[in-house]
Amino acid sequence: ARTVLVTGCSSGIGLAVAVRLARDPQRRYLVLATMRDLSRRGPLEAAAGATLGDTLRILRLDVTSDSSVAECLAGVPGGRVDVVVNNAGVGLVGPLESATGPQVQRVFDTNVFGVLRLVQALLPQMKQRRSGHIVVVSSVMGLQGVVFNDIYAASKFAVEGLCESLAVQLLQFNIFVSLVEPGPVNTEFERKVLQEAEKSEFPGSDPETLRHFRAVYLPAARQVFRTFGQSPERVAQAIAEVIGAPRPPFRTPTNPLYSPLLALRFADPRGDLGVRSFHRLLWDLGPRCLTCRCCRRRVTPV
Ligand code: NAD
Repeated sequence: ARTVLVTGCSSGIGLAVAVRLARDPQRRYLVLATMRDLSRRGPLEAAAGATLGDTLRILRLDVTSDSSVAECLAGVPGGRVDVVVNNAGVGLVGPLESATGPQVQRVFDTNVFGVLRLVQALLPQMKQRRSGHIVVVSSVMGLQGVVFNDIYAASKFAVEGLCESLAVQLLQFNIFVSLVEPGPVNTEFERKVLQEAEKSEFPGSDPETLRHFRAVYLPAARQVFRTFGQSPERVAQAIAEVIGAPRPPFRTPTNPLYSPLLALRFADPRGDLGVRSFHRLLWDLGPRCLTCRCCRRRVTPV
């Protein structure tokens, strides 16, 4: 069996991936399901059922800590990790002026340096064996910036650049790199980010920006998740297919409904089309654009 280490397994996509791989009918995987805080293992244990202690083990891993990475890898049976799924991640929304140093630091420390830490720690053994698979859960926001998600998008663009560069060198060693790019997924992630946004007063932001953020962006974001959000199980299925593939793809966008938005980016080499389209949606159309003029149905202004 291949040993698969997954980060951020206490909820969402990480939990779903760990359980799906552990339940593989052909028993192809030994899953090391890791999480920062072991006291939050309840939902994973419940979902893992009989696989717990068999094809699934739970280990502690905080991706923002060098010592935690070292301790976790020291506890891996035989020290061997064949596949790593870098899934742990945090979001941040709001006007850029209000983002504090520690908030920005936390996003990059988790989403970018977290991946870097683990990949650097695992590369020597993978290269020595001349085999391995590095999977990174990126986002459509790693390919296309989204208004009021500046810091989060920057962090996902960073991992895209990291992986795109690294994949070339590693192919020589028969090590595959795969980016998985989900659109909206209905997990704790959205709830945490939007709840924080509702509580915050965003000091330092001007009233005009804040009005658009609250009256247009936040309702639209909710609508986007409701109308084309995927389940974490659907994203886990896509990740399992990537891991099971004999020649894993470099990129896997999981949500076909999001592809037209990504096309904006490539349709115009100057890059203005995407920027201007998103601008018009946010600034020219007020909250009233949430109702379709012809049929009066609520529509999503994205
Ligand atoms: P989630 O909040 O349910 O899961 C994220 C997990 O990462 C949590 O279990 C959290 O505890 C863990 N985590 C955070 N900091 C950590 C740390 N320092 N060490 C270890 N674990 C840590 O949300 P999710 O939607 O399952 O997110 C998983 C990944 O998917 C993230 O990388 C996220 O950026 C990405 N993603 C999510 C969406 C979405 O809409 N939900 C869309 C695209 C990409």
